[in-house]
Amino acid sequence: MKKPLVIGVTGGIGSGKSTVCNAFVSLGIPVIDTDQVARDVVVPGSAGLAAVATAFGADVLSAEGTLDRVALRRIVFSDPQRRRELESILHPRIRARVAELLQEITAPYCLLGIPLLVEGGKKNQQVERVLVVDCPEEIQIARVMARDKLTEQEVAAIMQTQATREERLSVADDVVTNSSDLAIVQHQVNALHARYLALAEHR
Ligand code: ATP
Repeated sequence: MKKPLVIGVTGGIGSGKSTVCNAFVSLGIPVIDTDQVARDVVVPGSAGLAAVATAFGADVLSAEGTLDRVALRRIVFSDPQRRRELESILHPRIRARVAELLQEITAPYCLLGIPLLVEGGKKNQQVERVLVVDCPEEIQIARVMARDKLTEQEVAAIMQTQATREERLSVADDVVTNSSDLAIVQHQVNALHARYLALAEHR
């Protein structure tokens, strides 16, 4: 069976990645969410969780045996070496699980949601094209304030840790502009769907 064309989807917090992915799902296109995969590889009983506990100690496990993300974040937050260590445990497992999920896909193309694709630096080997979901920062801030009940300063602080709009757009092969209503998003997604089907067909 032909491998699906893999489109990486990225965008800043609250830009509308989930909204855009859902618009593709409504057309029957599968979406793999790497945030979900990152959680799946450290479920209780997994080799991933055992490796994290070996490297970081039992303090990163909750009483129920799940990963205590707050404790782990506290350790890696201000220690780049420990963060790299954590990434060296998680990233290969995430990649392997994504590869398995890709094997199961029968659609001509699929989306791979990677919120921090640009921040990751080097080119992601599992992605053939990059789709950036873009909107002006004021809209991003307003949406996240409304959704997550955060202050403007709190949203701005999160955005400070992410790539800038320009950095993201500079690596985009395709862009969905999500600055008005949902019908306009679906219209752009329909056009991309036709393009991706044609690209998948001719590669
Ligand atoms: P995160 O980075 O936090 O995962 P995201 O990029 O996936 O977020 P969404 O969850 O899709 O973004 O959108 C953020 C919020 O803005 C949601 O509450 C969503 O319902 C709302 N939203 C997104 N796009 C639109 C739109 N075009 N019109 C109105 N509301 C929207």
